[in-house]
Amino acid sequence: MTTASGGPGGVTGEEWSAAVEAVRGLAPGADGDEVQLICHVNPDGDALGSMLGFALALRKSGITRLRATFPGEFELPVPYQSLPGVDLLVPESGAFEAPKAVITFDVAAESRLGGLVRLLDAPCVIVVDHHASNTRFGRLNLVDPRAAATSVVVEGLLTRLDVPLDAEIAECLYVALATDTGSFKFDMTTPEVHELAARLIATGISPGDISRRIFDTRPFGAMKLAGDVLGRAALDPAAAAGHGMVWTYATLDDLRRYGQRPYVLDSLIDPIRSVAEADVAVVVKQTGDDEWAVSLRSKGAVDVSAVAVALGGGGHRFAAGFTGHGTPGDVVTAVRARLEDHLL
Ligand code: AMP
Ligand code: MN
Ligand code: MN
Repeated sequence: MTTASGGPGGVTGEEWSAAVEAVRGLAPGADGDEVQLICHVNPDGDALGSMLGFALALRKSGITRLRATFPGEFELPVPYQSLPGVDLLVPESGAFEAPKAVITFDVAAESRLGGLVRLLDAPCVIVVDHHASNTRFGRLNLVDPRAAATSVVVEGLLTRLDVPLDAEIAECLYVALATDTGSFKFDMTTPEVHELAARLIATGISPGDISRRIFDTRPFGAMKLAGDVLGRAALDPAAAAGHGMVWTYATLDDLRRYGQRPYVLDSLIDPIRSVAEADVAVVVKQTGDDEWAVSLRSKGAVDVSAVAVALGGGGHRFAAGFTGHGTPGDVVTAVRARLEDHLL
């Protein structure tokens, strides 16, 4: 069997077997066990795609007492509203009260579950993830830090459950894989990633249509907003022991001015990190009066996951984030002060 996950440093044979046994043990049907699927707050393509892909596979296997959710405001970025399986999504308040099983997707730590953390009392809790910083808060943990996306681990589980891929499941897993590999551009884009993409595309999905819809479509106002935010970017060549840092910020007022929702800011880290003179890229996005969601990226000189962890967040070595306070300048000063502690 070819999978893009498993082996040393990944999920052990015992962990796979225990998870397969737990999922097979769920009683299907209208009177069956309640199964609550959860992905992380402010869900991205990997969180939603992995969760909905697995949800569709469970439904196909006859498990109908099934809900999918994420904590916080129940607002799906427009590009994800057409993902297969969105009919299984409920707001946080609509989650099962006392499910038999809870399965989390792309959730590195309990802090990413908001109020849904209460459901971790369930008899069966399976954590499906690929963050090196995962705190293994499940009873069963399928965590493979070498997997390019959580959807890689999901596909490994579906293969072991003998659930065949169909076009709907594949579309969800493809969106997840394309999101976390930066459309197959990042270092994690291994031969196994392309083999998985090939299996997904072979179900009949259309990568061109999916990419256009998910990654290459935005409202005119979002494009104008990007112009303002990119226009105020600042370069700090001396940061990170001379590797350089480029940063910018976006306020709630920016969003209001252009009538845009916060998620439209998430893609702005990509043009920012393209700056040749800087290894580290930072985008500081206002989420409240004194609260900022901070995106960090590195091209290889700095472990930004360690920087994020030092500031109360987490993520991957070269892509991480945390919640900051004060002014955007305060937040960036705090980041800058920690870069030299985590040079690679
Ligand atoms: P983003 O910059 O939002 O695309 O996030 C990059 C990576 O950092 C993702 O793997 C996120 O899961 C992780 N991350 C972002 N914000 C946080 C946070 N506040 N706490 C923990 N991990 C985070
Ligand atoms: Mn994610
Ligand atoms: Mn992910």
